[in-house]
Amino acid sequence: MPSSFSLGNVRSVGITLTESVSPSTLFLMLTRRCNLDCSYCCVPAGHAKMNWKTASRVIDLFLEHPLPESQKRVIRFFGGEPLLAFDILQKVVEYVEGSGIKCSFALVTNGTTIDHEKAAFLAKRKVHTAVSVDGPRYMHDRGRTYKNGKGSFREVANGIHILQKHNVMHCITLTLQKHNIHQISVAMDKLLKDFKVTSLSYSLPIYQEGIQYYDGEEVAKELLEAQFRLLQKGVFIAELSALILSLVRGKTPPPYCGGTGGHVVAIPEGKLGPCYCFSPDEDVYWVDLRRVSTLSEALQKNPFIEWASRSVLTMARCKNCPAIQLCDGGCPFNSLRKYGTIYKPDDNYCAFIKTLIRNLGELGTSPNFQIPIHRRYCIRV
Ligand code: SF4
Ligand code: SF4
Repeated sequence: MPSSFSLGNVRSVGITLTESVSPSTLFLMLTRRCNLDCSYCCVPAGHAKMNWKTASRVIDLFLEHPLPESQKRVIRFFGGEPLLAFDILQKVVEYVEGSGIKCSFALVTNGTTIDHEKAAFLAKRKVHTAVSVDGPRYMHDRGRTYKNGKGSFREVANGIHILQKHNVMHCITLTLQKHNIHQISVAMDKLLKDFKVTSLSYSLPIYQEGIQYYDGEEVAKELLEAQFRLLQKGVFIAELSALILSLVRGKTPPPYCGGTGGHVVAIPEGKLGPCYCFSPDEDVYWVDLRRVSTLSEALQKNPFIEWASRSVLTMARCKNCPAIQLCDGGCPFNSLRKYGTIYKPDDNYCAFIKTLIRNLGELGTSPNFQIPIHRRYCIRV
């Protein structure tokens, strides 16, 4: 890595832009049901649970779809709360393993229903598990509540400790929302103390009308401050180290959103689409499984075609931006809800990524910074 770099010389790092990728990740929404009632949840709630007929059909399409050797297949379980459909999760893992096709598994969970039986399964089958937490108890319990308004921190902490007992590969994802977004450093410090993890991750807010969005510059500065403090304890924020690693290797960083070609979402209603935030009734954002016989056939239909053509290379505002090699314009769903089109970058993300990139050089050259290759098992949704 250059000893220092800035927004002005990022182009010289030599990253090659790619315009298309194959979907190597399948997001499997096992159920829309959830035992929590977080006000900011972006997934339309409901009771639908994926049945085995739908799950096995989706898995077959995904496994039959050819991938370049350089890409690794991943299935990510999510919901709702996917552990409320643990029977289907187990069946999927066993089915895929039985196929002999190499594929890894990841799970995004609220952590409240983890018990020893589930943890033993996740450990044995190497399911990387990301637990969403909003910060220490007093922050978490303001945002992540049960339907009766009670906070869920106690059960989440218990779930994380069980995962740790069983040596499940896990990470904690700090879900950023209005109740913690101005205290990222404090939140991460406290999570580290409570759970003694070696890697933390974060997820940025999804835009919803009437709910406070985020100030990109402020959040980037908070995250960088948190990372400087965490570095002294050898702890990394997964997304920041992934960004630096891409620079070191001269590769395009993982896209913020795989919905533009890197992933496919399958929902319990038997539909495929690029993003889990759309309601199953918003037909223009879904392809009915019954209408296709291969995944390629689905990818040749809208909305996949439209989403795959979203690129910073064609966004007027991005064309001359020095950050273009490290940015994909942010979340298309946010752009759609804010501007009515996916073909505009999300302003808040734009400010966020520019601020991060301006300051990554300082982070990368900090004496405490070592590239955490062996710890890069955290995932982002
Ligand atoms: S979204 Fe912003 S930071 Fe990203 S490429 Fe476009 S102008 Fe640059
Ligand atoms: S558009 Fe992409 S980044 Fe945004 S919520 Fe949907 S899947 Fe996530």
